[in-house]
Order: sequence, then structure tokens, then C-alpha cells
Amino acid sequence: MSNIESMLAFDREHLWHPYTSAVNPLTVYPVAKTDGVKIILEDGRELIDGMASWWCAIHGYNNPALNKALCDQVQKMPHVMFGGLTHEPAVSLARKLIDLSPPPLQHVFFADSGSVSVEVALKMAIQYYQAVGKPEKNRIMTIRNGYHGDTLGAMSVCDPVNGMHSLFEAVLPKHIFAEAPCCGYDDGCTDADFADFKSKIENHAHELAAVILEPVVQGAGGMRFYSPDYLKRVRQACDEHDVLLICDEIATGFCRAGAMFASELAGICPDIMCVGKAITGGYMTLAATLATAKVAEGISSDGGVFMHGPTFMANPLACTVANASLDLLVESNWQERIPQITKMLRAGFTPCENLSTVAEVRCLGAIGVVEMKNTVDMDSIQLEFVKRGVWVRPFGKLIYVMPPYVISNLELEALTSAICEVVSLQR
Ligand code: PMP
Repeated sequence: MSNIESMLAFDREHLWHPYTSAVNPLTVYPVAKTDGVKIILEDGRELIDGMASWWCAIHGYNNPALNKALCDQVQKMPHVMFGGLTHEPAVSLARKLIDLSPPPLQHVFFADSGSVSVEVALKMAIQYYQAVGKPEKNRIMTIRNGYHGDTLGAMSVCDPVNGMHSLFEAVLPKHIFAEAPCCGYDDGCTDADFADFKSKIENHAHELAAVILEPVVQGAGGMRFYSPDYLKRVRQACDEHDVLLICDEIATGFCRAGAMFASELAGICPDIMCVGKAITGGYMTLAATLATAKVAEGISSDGGVFMHGPTFMANPLACTVANASLDLLVESNWQERIPQITKMLRAGFTPCENLSTVAEVRCLGAIGVVEMKNTVDMDSIQLEFVKRGVWVRPFGKLIYVMPPYVISNLELEALTSAICEVVSLQR
């Protein structure tokens, strides 16, 4: 047995991959290395990466500036606890996040993954209302088709149908779900479109600490884009009813939807914002929860402290690579490049539009989605993509890409044409 075969055999026998069976797992492809926008398999095949490793690797892999930042930092201080200590990489990253985000967001809590930053956000909202003398405001409202992570608190605000609630019903807190927005990105939001959200927030305001949602783009819960006007109305309703607004920008943040943060597309600012994924350019796990002075000072009134403190909080390696990644992003021409990517995705997916198997094609920012009428078979469709030299990981009925921003036009064309070819084979 070759080394690769034995590695794969061990993997199959002992390793869990995301959302898979331990005894009958889906195929996994062994990767030897990554470079730029290429994933290079152990057998030498090169795949153009359409996924940016799930929204993260915005500058491509093996980026010289990020590699250097990380190598320099590892010589100085790979890690140190954050309780009672602080360091330049954390302070400088917090400063950058505050500068990039809307002015009211002034306080930063570093977390170790997107899901944890969502837990932190929910706890902030609940602690805030306890601290200001309204402890009965401890439930959360959200919209259907959302996704916020896989930990229990995050899961409790994921879509109840496609978000694993049936498995964990007995232990999940029961929150309030409004219908998913049905007004598309280019539509306005009418009173009728907002009616369900409006009536639910009115009825539950007395017990609500926060509304949490993904601004404008709902990712893993259905890759849906909705009207920024809807989000504007959500902001207004939260203000009217004394409910905090948490925007989960973990997937959308750092320009993916065409603005630095997707909430800017609606011209609103949340009370609490979660960021993650692309923050380190896909190098390491790191996330952050930002809060306004109102929330931070509210929690801290009467000597209150915020009750969370992960072991790897503000890990210096992660903060350093995040600093380098955000510098690259800010210095890049993303304001021009992202609209070019949108245009190319639209043009590239045009051949899919009239296929009888395709329900809808939609593109926004650096996100392109081909929604099929039927669920695709993951194993076989993935094989077809790999055969054509691209890395695309569909789920359910959704074939979608969110490539690294540094993808070249030629690579992007190769990616979309391979997808069109594979889509045309679907029955
Ligand atoms: N929120 C959103 C919107 C996400 O897309 C994700 C990850 N797909 C998460 C939260 C959870 O992040 P993580 O996987 O880093 O825990």
C-alpha cells in the first residue's frame, strides 16, 4: 500500500469530516499543497479553487505577505494567555476592525471560531438586558433559512428545518423565527414582505434580547440574497422595540458581498457584529464580536463583567496574520475587483440559466449560485468537478462558488465553464 493509500485508509477508518458518517463517509481527496488559487492533489492534479476554503482564503493560498507575517510572529510569540496580558497584534487588529466597521462599533472581543463569536454575541445581548434591569428580555428572534454555526447556542438560531433542530430539539432553547425574507436583492421591501417580522417582533419584544441575522446574504441556510430594504426595516423595528440587532458577518464580511460589511449595503449599523472566516485570509481560525459602547457599557454597569474567556483568545499568530490579511485587503482594488467578479460570474453562468434542471442562477459580490431543481449527488458531482480541474463543493440543490478575490479572469472563466458543463450533465 502506498503512503497515500494508507493515509486514506486511516482517514476513512478513523477521521470525521464535516457532516459525514463515521462508517460510510463520502469520498475525500488528498491534498499535497495549495498555491495561489490552486489546490494541488497528491496525484499531481491541480484544481482551481471555487470555494476559498468556505469563504476564507480571499488572497489565495501561500500568500508571501501572509506567510512572512506568520513566520516572523512565530519566532517572537506564538501564543500567550490573554487574561491579564495583552500584545501588539491584538491591539492593532482591534484598531483595524474598529476603523473598518461602522463608527458605533467600538469594543472588540476575540473568539476562536465563528460559532463561538455567535455564542459570545448572544451572551452579550442577554447580559446587556440583565445589567440594565430587564432580565425578562432573554430570548432571541431570527429569520428562517439562517445559519450561524454548529454549537448549541448558534444552532438554536439556525433554520429549524435545515439546521439540525430535529436532532437536538430537546436541548435547544426555543427562539422566535420570522419567515425568511421573500423580497430579492433588487426588490424593495413592501409592508407585506415585512408583515411577519413586524408582527413577531411586536408580539415578543417584551421577552426579546436580540434579533440575529445574516445581513443581505443567507449563506449555508440556502445561499439566498434578500433586499437591503428588509434589513433597514429590521434595524428600525429593533430600535422601536428596544431589541438589540446582531449582524452575523462571518461569511459576508470583508467584501464578499460587495461592501466591506454587507450591512453597509443597507446603510445600517448593528449593535453587535460577528466577523470571522476571511479575517485571517484563511490561514488560521479566528473570529471577533464587536459591540457598540451602549452594549459594552451596559454590560459593565454596576461593576458587571462579560463572562467569556477562551484559552486561545486573541492568539498572537492568528491576530498577526489577520493584520496582514486586512492590510492586503485594504490596499487591494477590491472596490473594482469584486464588481468585475460579479460580472464574470453572471456571464459565466448564463448558459445554465435556461437548463430545465436549473431553478435559478444568482450572483452578488464575489458569490455565484446555481440552484438546481433537485438535490445533487455530492459524491458523483464532485468527481465530475475534480475531473475538470475545479474545486466546488455543492450542498443540497446548491452549486455555488465564492472564489479567492485574486482569481484571474482566465481561472474564473475556467471555473464557471466547468460548472456549466457539469450542470448540463445533471438529469
Ligand atoms: N455564521 C455564518 C454566517 C457562517 O457562514 C458560519 C460558517 N459557515 C458560521 C457562523 C460558523 O463559523 P465557524 O464554522 O467558524 O464556527
